[in-house]
Amino acid sequence: MIELHDDVYIDGRWRPSKSERRSPIFNPATGEIWANVPDGNTEDIDNAVAAARRAFPGWAATPAEERAGMLRLLADQIDARSDALSNCITTENGTPISETRSAPGYGAAHLREVASLAHLLTEEDKRSNPLSSGSSLVRRHPLGVAGLITPWNFPLGLIIVKLGPALLAGCTVVLKPAPETPMAARMLMEAIEATGFPPGVVNMVTGSAEAGSALVEHPRVDKISFTGSTDVGRMIGASCGRLLRPATLELGGKSPAIVLDDVDTSVLAANILKVSMRNTGQTCKACTRLLLPAHRHDELLELVAEVVSSAPLGDPFDPATFFGPLVSERQRQRVLGYMEIGAAEGAKAVVGGGLPAGLQRGFYVEPTVFRDVTPGMRIAQEEIFGPVLAVIPYSDVDEAVAIANDSPFGLAATVFGADIDRARNVADRLDTGNVGINHYGSNAAAPFSGHKASGLGTEFGPEGLSQYLTYTSIHFPN
Ligand code: NAP
Repeated sequence: MIELHDDVYIDGRWRPSKSERRSPIFNPATGEIWANVPDGNTEDIDNAVAAARRAFPGWAATPAEERAGMLRLLADQIDARSDALSNCITTENGTPISETRSAPGYGAAHLREVASLAHLLTEEDKRSNPLSSGSSLVRRHPLGVAGLITPWNFPLGLIIVKLGPALLAGCTVVLKPAPETPMAARMLMEAIEATGFPPGVVNMVTGSAEAGSALVEHPRVDKISFTGSTDVGRMIGASCGRLLRPATLELGGKSPAIVLDDVDTSVLAANILKVSMRNTGQTCKACTRLLLPAHRHDELLELVAEVVSSAPLGDPFDPATFFGPLVSERQRQRVLGYMEIGAAEGAKAVVGGGLPAGLQRGFYVEPTVFRDVTPGMRIAQEEIFGPVLAVIPYSDVDEAVAIANDSPFGLAATVFGADIDRARNVADRLDTGNVGINHYGSNAAAPFSGHKASGLGTEFGPEGLSQYLTYTSIHFPN
């Protein structure tokens, strides 16, 4: 039985989409269609932006502490839907339930952390003038209507990290989620509705290219926050540059994991899957270039190969599963294509390298570890976005740092090493927005951003909140 929906969420209620088109939603574990939602059009976006515009003055004038209170209530509504949300995410993008069980709780905690920043918006910020007499009062204002565009790999969390700071800042929003994963976003709108946000503060239009570009180009949108691929980010950035519209762009990566020669192998074994292949490798900050010291290469490769090949692959609803299906047939073809490219370039698959036996349905590939990779190969330079690890030997730490930084991207990295000071010194030399020491790290209170082709702007913490603000300085003679 296919779930059929023909509505979009605008002005505090579900209303029929103006589009005749519908998008089928696949269950990646079976390849079957399980739901159908509107593929929204320009008129839907116009209506959503108009509602957000109408709601903006009232929401912007609502005291920041009250807006923070609404975020806390929304967090409670998300917690109340925790099981339904995690089941929904696993059904729509195939992320194993062992991961999605914590996704709603993470989202709720993130909203509470954002709410704790409300004092930054209310504190009087008076600054003396260091160059002459006089002082200035610095006022912070919400930017206006924010357009949020998100990808499919973390369908709830990647919306929340935009929605929370946008709403706390006083912006109203129009969300366009990825066409592969609109169902968790719909459930989030139900939580928004139950929270009692004023009509028009949060609006959502499901859809694909037409809706996305209508939102980016809309003359009454004041801010775009986009998470997705670098290619699309460049296009959106170009449009926003032409329009002089502020844009936050969180883009792709090809992150390195540097294993130092004093690594504690039990720490490496316990963390490498999460660091490099979380969400079946469909994670922006997955460290898929594994840099091993040449004199310990074979021993460490054997350990990693053993860990990867013994992690369970299969039904994403089985709590033991680590590797699920990829999100779509298109994504599977992309990943298989890179496996062929790797083999053609001379790399050797010591684990996997193709389609798994025994899984006839669904969008599965084999988790794969390539050895004999050189830094210039395409599989070492381009984002694959699947469970494919490229193992590269290095001779000394300087070379490891040079290989790690030899990338168009700069989103994340991990350094494995027993001597924490030494590992931190290596971390300091990496041109990247996030570095985990001996684990997969990120922190809702610390900025998350990409260097180089991994993005512009930042999310998380006070720095993420500032992306939805503009400033006025009022100058006094004394
Ligand atoms: P994508 O193809 O760039 O799409 C992302 C979103 O943008 C989707 O909603 C997509 O909808 C929309 N879109 C595409 N073209 C558009 C356009 N011209 N104008 C407006 N919207 C447009 O990325 P994806 O395949 O969904 O996600 C995977 C990518 O996201 C990877 O590169 C990954 O590294 C990156 N990512 C980055 C982060 C981070 O924080 N840095 C986090 C997660 C993922 P349509 O497909 O319908 O067009």
